[in-house]
Amino acid sequence: MILDKEYRILVVDDAKDTQMLLEFDLSAAGYQISCCDGGEDALVSLGTQEIDLILLDMYMPGLSGLETLAKIKAQVISAEIPVIMLSASTDEDEVVAALELGAGDYVTKPYVTKVLLARMRTAIRLMEKTAQLEYLAKTDFLTGINNRGSFFELSNHAISLASRAGQSLVVAMFDIDFFKQVNDNYGHDAGDQVLRVFSQGMTEVFRGYDIIGRVGGEEFAVCLPNTNRKNANIACERFRYYMEQLSVGIITNNNNNNNNNNKRNINITVSIGLVLAPKGPLTIDELLKQADRALYYAKEHGRNQVVDDRIVATIDERDKTVASPINTDDIDKNNHFQENIIMANYDGIDFDIGISNVLGDEALFKEILVMFYQDHHLDGDKLQRAIKQQDFDSVKHLAHTLKGVACSVGAMDLFEVTKALDIAVNYDKKEDFDSLFSQLSSQINRVMKGIELALDVS
Ligand code: GH3
Ligand code: MG
Ligand code: MG
Repeated sequence: MILDKEYRILVVDDAKDTQMLLEFDLSAAGYQISCCDGGEDALVSLGTQEIDLILLDMYMPGLSGLETLAKIKAQVISAEIPVIMLSASTDEDEVVAALELGAGDYVTKPYVTKVLLARMRTAIRLMEKTAQLEYLAKTDFLTGINNRGSFFELSNHAISLASRAGQSLVVAMFDIDFFKQVNDNYGHDAGDQVLRVFSQGMTEVFRGYDIIGRVGGEEFAVCLPNTNRKNANIACERFRYYMEQLSVGIITNNNNNNNNNNKRNINITVSIGLVLAPKGPLTIDELLKQADRALYYAKEHGRNQVVDDRIVATIDERDKTVASPINTDDIDKNNHFQENIIMANYDGIDFDIGISNVLGDEALFKEILVMFYQDHHLDGDKLQRAIKQQDFDSVKHLAHTLKGVACSVGAMDLFEVTKALDIAVNYDKKEDFDSLFSQLSSQINRVMKGIELALDVS
């Protein structure tokens, strides 16, 4: 039997004759062998060389086989290496103890060479399959970078390390601009090629210890440990520029007979929102939500740009002011303040987000709200009809447009649920339509009622 590669075996046995015998038999079978006389040596040796499998004697002076096994399994560097115990004893309790401590197998001495070799092959194959499964579970199949789950896990770990060490950390969220058009114009395969080039670019531009991941269809994120806001802005800007300059070669799937016609270069841009992690216990989930708000600000203000969380901080600060108890005396004394309170009371609309999108111009914001009402107060009915008639192009169009305008006017709850519907439409999750539509419908009613109460929209 020929091995796929030269696996490295560590033999741990105090008896020199056993070491020599194993070295002879295993080398003949194509393995690379190194030997240690005892448990202490073995633990040191594991820190200095890469080993694929350990053959561990049960009875040794100093650390016993079981004690050594426990330590091997306790240290990160060796915990995943399969261990086969070797012993002259057939004591069943010992076998059980070894297996419970994490040994992969138990072989009695004197060993039968072909049985030992077969068990070694099985142990190695199992380890490789486990590693492969772990890789698949953590990796995005299309791009080869961390998938959402793995990105979340690694980032949460980095966040808690940073918080303990008092180091700053930044999380950034990326969304390709008008990506749907790539799919629509050149086909889904071309879209996939762009996603691969995009993630390849991320691995090139960001540092090796930055954590990058694909967190949604055409949404990516990066967690930058030990980085301040300024340097994160520089890194993200470098990536934005890198993408803008890059001419992405794609092979389109139009079936022209001339092969050369199927190759073309396209340009894509990306919008980026980033957040500096504030002090205190936080999760990647919360940080991504903040980064997402900055990202949508970037989308609403022309795309192809990096926006950081200071815009979010400004919005939050104003939220607090609006939420503080209202002193009615102040309203009477100060007309301007009264105006603000009325403005802030549009139900379902985050006044500060909406007004910051028109650079603080309240009169303009009112006009936009009136137009928003006139253009969209029937969107709930239209969507209901389109869903009922299974007219998914119209559902798509309505949801996508409503998502954009809801964000611009600061109707954030409506925006979130419309975004969810937009995603469900893009992924063809028809089973989610009804529940999302009913949430959307109550949000749209709430927002439109709020505008009706505050403004003359007749
Ligand atoms: P915006 O600038 O507002 O982000 O516009 P957009 O077109 O990028 O936004 P939208 O969210 O409407 O479109 C995202 C598209 O991404 C829709 C969906 O079909 C596509 N998409 C999601 N996952 C994949 C994928 O794995 N492969 C391909 N080819 N397309 C995908
Ligand atoms: Mg998107
Ligand atoms: Mg996009």
